[in-house]
Amino acid sequence: MGDVIPTGAPRQGELPVEYREASADELDERIRAAKAALGDRVVVLGHFYQREEVIRHADYVGDSYQLANAALEHPQTEAIVFCGVHFMAETADMLSRPEQAVILPNLAAGCSMADMADIDQVEEAWEQLAEVYGDMDTPDADGLVPVIPVTYMNSSAAIKGFVGRHGGIVCTSSNARTVLEWAFARGRRVLFFPDQHLGRNTAKAMGIPLEQMPMWNPRKPLGGSTEGELDDARVILWHGFCSVHRRFTVDQVDQARAEHPGVRVIVHPECPMDVVDAADESGSTDYIRRAIEGTTEPTTFAIGTEVNLVQRLAADNPQHTVFCLDPVVCPCSTMYRIHPGYLAWVLEGLVDGEVRNRIAVAQDVADPARVALERMLAAKPPEAPASDWQFAS
Ligand code: SF4
Repeated sequence: MGDVIPTGAPRQGELPVEYREASADELDERIRAAKAALGDRVVVLGHFYQREEVIRHADYVGDSYQLANAALEHPQTEAIVFCGVHFMAETADMLSRPEQAVILPNLAAGCSMADMADIDQVEEAWEQLAEVYGDMDTPDADGLVPVIPVTYMNSSAAIKGFVGRHGGIVCTSSNARTVLEWAFARGRRVLFFPDQHLGRNTAKAMGIPLEQMPMWNPRKPLGGSTEGELDDARVILWHGFCSVHRRFTVDQVDQARAEHPGVRVIVHPECPMDVVDAADESGSTDYIRRAIEGTTEPTTFAIGTEVNLVQRLAADNPQHTVFCLDPVVCPCSTMYRIHPGYLAWVLEGLVDGEVRNRIAVAQDVADPARVALERMLAAKPPEAPASDWQFAS
């Protein structure tokens, strides 16, 4: 409530009063009853960042990559109810069979970071880069094109489609380095969007100097750089960020170390570079989960990621002390829009034969976006062999 809904984000109609006024217990019971009535006809997927009242109804819990995989593994279900944000439901739609309905319980559950890379701005940036670099499609004497576009999974289907059409690739927070290596084998530079922090942290770990990572601000001519800077660039970073992970600071890391000697600090690579540098480790949500669960000695962990996940990790691992680096806890406000009332509403709709809030990606966008996703899988992400994935046509 009260947070800004990005321009262009889908709007959700008002939830019927019976769901708005139902108690938490009643909604819990109605969700259970609807799921029981639907049986194998539906699978409910829940992102790590969802609140507990939603997660308890999920058949699968994971990050966006794992949940996309879970969608693939259920080709027999009529509906996939995706308790996450809009770009995740779009990806599930592109990976599922055409007759399966992917449902986002609240259409206003977007991702503020994904919304920062608008397709019109990206097309405009590409045209400006073509004026600097010349022919974008023809490789030079070394077999390299001027720029390979790379997009984080946290982007719209339109951006994934753009990337697919221009010889580019998708990455996740688990495989960003592998994907950048793939891109540098094909291009002189990378245009990375939407998350500047994941791009910067990954490129820095690969030894690329900060001076060769100019930021592209879509509101400025040439993104705010000179032609010389763009010529020298290795990674052009789109001006995007995650409002949740941007909150973490080096002061919080220092305070955790002062108050908890021996603390192990792990942060997500969407955090700013100085925070990643100050931490002991950085990695995806699944990396953080495995790091905590895989530690046998009782340990104190200070974690820099979304608070719902941190609280769940703390509850599931009572042998450790696990706390969020940010003392003023801040959930992902867009994930939080998946209230149990919306989940009950879409599930009871399915029981009544009505598909509510279906997410459907147009074929002309989905086809090139799938190409970009397939390139990522062929680049062999470290946590899932490519053979785990097959694309529905
Ligand atoms: S945590 Fe950040 S990147 Fe993830 S869904 Fe929320 S706003 Fe988007």
